[in-house]
Amino acid sequence: MTDILETIAELTHLRNRHALELAFAQLVYRLAGASCLTLWQVGRQGGEVKLRPQVTLPAAGQEGAERPPALPECPGYGPVYGRRGGRKMARQVYPIHDGARVCGLLEITRAKAFTRLEETLLANVIKVYGNHAGLLDYGERDELTGLLNRRSFSTAFSHASGQVNGVIAVADIDFFKRINDEFGHPYGDEVLILMARLMEEALEAADGVFRFGGEEFLILLGGAAPDEAFAVLDDFRARVEETQFPQVGRVTISIGFATFGCNDTGASAFGRADEALYIAKKRGRNQVQCHEWLVAEGSLAGEKKANSDVEMF
Ligand code: GH3
Ligand code: MG
Ligand code: MG
Repeated sequence: MTDILETIAELTHLRNRHALELAFAQLVYRLAGASCLTLWQVGRQGGEVKLRPQVTLPAAGQEGAERPPALPECPGYGPVYGRRGGRKMARQVYPIHDGARVCGLLEITRAKAFTRLEETLLANVIKVYGNHAGLLDYGERDELTGLLNRRSFSTAFSHASGQVNGVIAVADIDFFKRINDEFGHPYGDEVLILMARLMEEALEAADGVFRFGGEEFLILLGGAAPDEAFAVLDDFRARVEETQFPQVGRVTISIGFATFGCNDTGASAFGRADEALYIAKKRGRNQVQCHEWLVAEGSLAGEKKANSDVEMF
C-alpha cells in the first residue's frame, strides 16, 4: 500500500503529459497484474468520438508483448469475461474523466476476474490521474479555441523531435485585421474558433495543433516527409478557402513549413517555417510554402533572416 501511495505521489509531481501517461499506465499495469493494457485518448471531431492509443503495455518488442484486442470489439465499460486463444481472460474498460468529460479510456486485460476491492482501488487511482491530467490540460490549452497553447509547444516539440524527423508548419490567417475592423472583434473571435475546428478535422493525424498567437497557429507532423506534409497542409488550406464563415464569408490562410531533425530546437525549426510563411504572404497569400524547396530554388537568399532566437514563451 505504501508503495502504491508513493508512486501516486510521484505521479502527481509530473508536469509532462507524455511522462504522466506512461507512469500512470505502468502503475495500473503493475497494480492490476495485467497481461496487456492500453490507454486510449478520447478526441472529438465534428460531434464524432475518435479513439487514439496513447500507451500500450507491454510495449511492442518487449518480451511477452501481445497486441491487446481492438477496443471497438469491447461492448461496454463493464468487465468482459471470455476466452482468447484457449485461455481465460478478463477485460475491463474504465472511462477517465478530466473534470468536465471523458478524456480517455483505460483498457485492462488479464487472466483472472477483478475482485470488488481491486475494482474500487483501480477506480480511485484512475480518478486521481483524471483530476491531475485535467489540471495539466487546463494549463496547456488556449481558452478561446481549446487548442494547445504556446506554452505547451516546447514540450511537444522536444517529445516529437526526440523520436522522429518531421515537419513544423506555421499557419497565419490572411488579412485578419480587416475582419476585426470590418465586422468587429467578436466576429474575429468566431473566425478563430471555427478555424481551430477546421484545423483539428483536417489535421487529425498531426502530433499537435497549437494556437501560437492571435491568428497564428503551429502544427507538428512527426514522421512526415515534405511532399506528404504539403498534401495535408494544402488540403487544409483549400478547405478553409471553401468554407463560408458566418457573416464574414470567405477567409484564407497562408502556411509555411520546414522539416526538423533531432538536433533542432523548437525555435530554430519555427524560424525556418516562419521564413517560408513570409514568402507565402509575399507571393499573394492563400498558399503553402516549404522552406527546403525555397532554399533549393534559391528563393530565400537575402530574405528575412531565420529567427533562431525567437522567444517561445
Ligand atoms: P497578414 O495577411 O499579413 O497576416 O495580415 P493580418 O491583418 O492578418 O496581420 P496582422 O498581424 O496585422 O493582424 C493580426 C490581427 O489579429 C491584429 C489583432 O488585432 C488581431 N488579434 C490578435 N488576437 C486576437 C484575438 O484573440 N481575437 C481577435 N478577434 N483578434 C485578434
Ligand atoms: Mg495574419
Ligand atoms: Mg500574424
